[in-house]
Order: sequence, then C-alpha cells, then structure tokens
Amino acid sequence: MARTIEIADGIYQISTDNYRLNSGLIVGAERAMIVDTGAGPRQGAEILRAIRRITDLPLVAVNTHAHFDRFMGNAVFKADGVTDFWSHPRAGRAIEKYGDAQRPYVEVLEPEMAHAQGPNTELVPPTRFLPGDGTRPAFTRVELGERAITLIYLGLAHTDNDILVGVDDVLFTGDIVEQGSDPAFDDSFPELWVKTLQTLVGLDRYRIFVPGHGTPVERTFIERMAETMQDAIQKISESALTRVKGATTASMYQLPYSGGSTRILLDRLQKLQRFEEQGQPLAAVNFDATEPSGLTGPITLGNG
Ligand SMILES: [Zn+2]
Repeated sequence: MARTIEIADGIYQISTDNYRLNSGLIVGAERAMIVDTGAGPRQGAEILRAIRRITDLPLVAVNTHAHFDRFMGNAVFKADGVTDFWSHPRAGRAIEKYGDAQRPYVEVLEPEMAHAQGPNTELVPPTRFLPGDGTRPAFTRVELGERAITLIYLGLAHTDNDILVGVDDVLFTGDIVEQGSDPAFDDSFPELWVKTLQTLVGLDRYRIFVPGHGTPVERTFIERMAETMQDAIQKISESALTRVKGATTASMYQLPYSGGSTRILLDRLQKLQRFEEQGQPLAAVNFDATEPSGLTGPITLGNG
C-alpha cells in the first residue's frame, strides 16, 4: 500500500513499493498536481487511490523524465479526467518514440502493461511542455489556484529530459537526486549531471528535496552527491588513461559506487567520449536532429 507523508502544508510524498518509487502530490485551491504516475495500471491505481484519500480536486500530471516508472501510469490518470500531462519536450518525444520499447522492463510487476493488454495499458504521452526547444535551461509556472508550481529544466543530467517540480520551499527532483542507492547512469550525462547538481544546490529558495527514490534530503546531501560523482568520474578517467584493463578493474575498488553502477558509469563515459571525439560537444547537441546518435532513447540497460 502507498505511504503518504505530508512534507509541508498540502504537499505530499507518495511512496509505493514497486521500484521504490516516490511520486508527489501538491494540492491547490482549484486543482492538484501528481508528480510521476507509476510504471503501469497497478501502480498508477495505487497512487491515484492514495491521492483520492486526500483530495477530490481535478488533477494535472507531471512526468519528471521519460523512464517507465514516471509515465506508464498516465493512462490511469487520463481515465480519471487528466488532460494536462507536463514534461520536458524531449521527454514527450522520447515517450512517443521509445515508450513501447520500455514495456519489457515492467514484465514482472506490471504484466498487463508489458503486454499492452487490459485497461489503462495504452501509452499516454505528455501533452504540455516547458518552453523552448529543450536545449537550454527553462522554466514555466503552472497555476493550481492560490498556489503556483514551477517546472524547471536545468540541463543534461540523469537523462536529457529531467525536470524539477518546485512549490514553496519543496523541490521534487525526479532521479536527478538519488537517495538510498547509486545514481542510475544508464542514460545519463555524468559530467554535466555534476554541473546540474551544482546549479540545483544554488536554487536558494528550496530547502526540502524529494528524490525520485528514497527519503527527502537537504542541500548538503546534494552537495555531497555532486562531489562523489565528480570524484568517481575523475578516478575512472584517470584509470582509463592507463589503457590497462586490469588497472581499471582494480581502481574500481576505490570508487564510491557498487561494481554494477561503476561498470554502467564507465561504459557511459566511454560512449559519450566516443561521441565527443566525433566533434560534437554534448551540451550543444540537438539530439533530435542528430539521431540516431545512440545517446538517447529507452533506458540503455544492456543495449549499450
Ligand atoms: Zn530514471
């Protein structure tokens, strides 16, 4: 069953067991906002039930990025009357293009979604987007009635389409911030992720940060997360310079992440390096124009 914690007045963290997912609920005077809808009809319905114990208001939804646990519950919310699904413009395109490719990831916990069989298993792509073409930092406000939400894009990080959801002094961070396990590097841009975390730390008005998984954290946690990531990237880069496979493996024991996460990070850094060696600085890449770059798309687990 979902666990609901009121973080501040009318601002809730809704945690469900599958994928240790955190969703958010923000209640205004006229509408309420759901942040991340779950990985399919089962989890989506569980989140919606938790919401309906708190408010009967019409909802608007946000998908913080284009990973399955963030948007595959959208159909449940569409059936509840939601028409506005907000995201980064690239998340919208990624879900349209690669949403179906992510169905196999939910085979165990959301079999109906995996096989597109049964109610609320259709893909519902986002309908509302942050302004601009998505390559630059951007923000927009969504009015809930006597309460305005700020949706923020800071730059490349966990994916190329992570957005933050700010209200009062609370910031829902999606998977840009990870508590209780290693950051997920599969689709990430590690060096720019560090920069994005540093920018995030500078957003003074926010005091409570709700990660995509785990428990809420303070600013100092994010500073440490950025330092740890920077340190790991540096150690990997240094060891990779030796071009000795054994040395790389040995140096992993000095790294702050598990062997599995370190391997994913290493693979990702090498892939991005190959891309940049072709003369394309990552920060300036228009991914949609350069596809197939192999840098975006469904979670690249095993598809490296
Ligand atoms: Zn994610």
